Amino acid sequence: MSRHEHPLGISFEFFPPGTDAGRDKLIQTRDELAARNPRFFSVTYGAGGSTQARTREIVRKVSQSGVTTAPHLSCIGSEKALLRDLLAQYREEGVDSLVALRGDMPSGMASIGELRYANELVEFIRDETGNHFDIAVAAYPESHPQAPSLDRDVENFARKMKAGANMAITQYFFTADAYFHFVDKARALGVEQPIIPGIMPITNYTKLARFSDACGAEIPRWIRKQLESYGDDSEAIADFGTDVVSRLCQRLLDGGAPGLHFYTLNQSKPVLKIVDNLSG
Ligand code: FAD
Repeated sequence: MSRHEHPLGISFEFFPPGTDAGRDKLIQTRDELAARNPRFFSVTYGAGGSTQARTREIVRKVSQSGVTTAPHLSCIGSEKALLRDLLAQYREEGVDSLVALRGDMPSGMASIGELRYANELVEFIRDETGNHFDIAVAAYPESHPQAPSLDRDVENFARKMKAGANMAITQYFFTADAYFHFVDKARALGVEQPIIPGIMPITNYTKLARFSDACGAEIPRWIRKQLESYGDDSEAIADFGTDVVSRLCQRLLDGGAPGLHFYTLNQSKPVLKIVDNLSG
């Protein structure tokens, strides 16, 4: 963690860009966000060979900022030997934090692999590397889309935390009470580790709606209606989005959330507008 951490305990997620221009832009974004003294950066991971190599490359570039950088790592479709190699490489490169996920089966991938769920990946990492890595896992305040019920999903989440995770980062959501309800349920099952809300800035309604449908995050009707009314007016969407998400963040912090993790989509401006609106 950074020595002079931002007082609100903020952290930022990036994805590995596919082009040189995207990589250049990410370096600029990294520097603008590193100046806010985040707790850590994280870099997403896609199942499939080329994106995995890109995650490693981007982790190296992002960590040159001096900010702790956590690669995401998913187990679905992977053999233990491959994961063991990757863990060894990260250790050699000085990585000491990970975001451990099951991931989703990419179409065309033949086999689930040796580890079926994220709790098994957390156990595997602990068995292989002891306490070397700080491990974060995913949480779903509005329930994971494949879970039969919220209660079952929270039980699965608690199993994953008890397998040795240090903290959790949530899927994004726009209803603060969904987060508080989830945290209460997890605490009732004995989960004591921090559960950090994942925050998605609102910048583009069409993309947000598509992505939210896929990952099971609800956009409340009043937000959808307001965004729809702006049509192509990207400035109006950005202003409204900043206001709505800043209020959400403030409510979460006031209600005891132990930090905020921003899904940056590799852009600094939308998240910095939100961060600048917040008070501790
Ligand atoms: P799990 O915790 O394994 O849960 C998956 C489903 O299985 C849930 O419905 C759960 O209730 C159920 N379940 C869990 N354990 C058990 C068990 N032992 N027995 C029976 N059922 C069980 N995806 C990527 O591809 N790359 C990324 O970099 C990435 N980063 C992410 C970061 C965050 C913070 C979040 C919230 C999500 C991220 N995702 C990423 C998406 C994630 O991979 C998907 O949501 C995936 O479908 C579930 O992964 P998980 O680790 O939450 O799975």
